[in-house]
Amino acid sequence: MSWRIPLADLDFGPEETQAALQVLESRWLTMGAVTEQFEADFARFTGAKHAIAVTNCTVGLHMACLALDIGPGDEVIVPSLTFVATSNAVLYCGAQPVFADICGPDQLTLSPESVEQHLTSRTKAIMVMHYGGYACDMPRILEIAERHGLAVIEDAAHSVGSSLGGRALGVWGKIGCYSFFSNKNMTTGEGGMLVTDDDALAARLRLLRSHGMTSLTWDRHRGHAWSYDVVELGYNYRIDEIRSAIGIVQLQKLPAGNAARRELTTLYRAQFAAEVPELTIPFRQTPGISACHLMPVLLPPGTARVAVMDALKQEGIQTSIHYPPIHLFSYYRQRVNASSPVVLPLTEDVAARELTLPLYPALQAEQVSVVVQALRKILRG
Ligand SMILES: *Cc1c(COP(=O)(O)O)cnc(C)c1O
Repeated sequence: MSWRIPLADLDFGPEETQAALQVLESRWLTMGAVTEQFEADFARFTGAKHAIAVTNCTVGLHMACLALDIGPGDEVIVPSLTFVATSNAVLYCGAQPVFADICGPDQLTLSPESVEQHLTSRTKAIMVMHYGGYACDMPRILEIAERHGLAVIEDAAHSVGSSLGGRALGVWGKIGCYSFFSNKNMTTGEGGMLVTDDDALAARLRLLRSHGMTSLTWDRHRGHAWSYDVVELGYNYRIDEIRSAIGIVQLQKLPAGNAARRELTTLYRAQFAAEVPELTIPFRQTPGISACHLMPVLLPPGTARVAVMDALKQEGIQTSIHYPPIHLFSYYRQRVNASSPVVLPLTEDVAARELTLPLYPALQAEQVSVVVQALRKILRG
């Protein structure tokens, strides 16, 4: 299907092609100097002390849990209004994800009150997700974590380039995880990045990324090492030089892309306020600078969302839903939470009427008007 206005679009040009070609021509394809540069660039961009590139954000979340010694018997508080990878990472480690509710229809992120209500003696960490690039209430989440001796992990998949109080989202907690999947604000195809300010955690994450080995093929190639030891159970969660080269270029383009997303978001907001006031547009009150990864709107209660999406599709406008809540998936209901059903009234209300509209840097102002007018016409019947 070719959409008149797709949900998302790549911001790729000849620079990415050139960067990838250069790696191919260099004949060194696996993690090495280009990845080191990508990590250094990313650390500088976020202000983190360490950046560790990985093959995707999902494995990054898994590594974050492992590095914080989260395992069987532990509980991790997570949102349900997120991508399933957030809570799956907790399950990979044999720990129990405990779902907390969101703040409400204006703030679709983890509620500090709900987090506190779900704390037990087994709680080991809180995993937040900055929905659409909009900041969770990090000062309050960190205060709760500190009071109870918990680690905070940030699923920052949506928030490359977001900040709160001048500090990048992803560097507030112990470990932050970013995604470079192809529909995110910057992409390497598949790809991800971990950030931390903690030297010991960074060292542990590097081991976990590569089989728990004390030296890399790259070190041995440079003559820095000729053998290695294996000091823990690690994985192959490495990125490669082709994707790192693309990532370096994408990171340079990100600020302009995010600025375009912010302007388009402001335009959507103004037009909806004037033309379709029955819609709720979340994150009106959210402090900080958002990467504006998504353009979510909440339909009036009772609206037949599938019919709205189908009608928009007839106009060539692609939409999506963020997210079907994790606690309602079969696997989670039947296996993960079988003994005690999870009820999250605010998450369930928002998830039932959320609609995600097209947003990407090359989207034109006229196309925003096309989307707004199409939605107005459909809702007014
Ligand atoms: C995309 C996404 C992920 C997973 O990222 P991958 O790089 O595809 O593994 C995790 N969490 C959230 C919130 C996401 O949107």
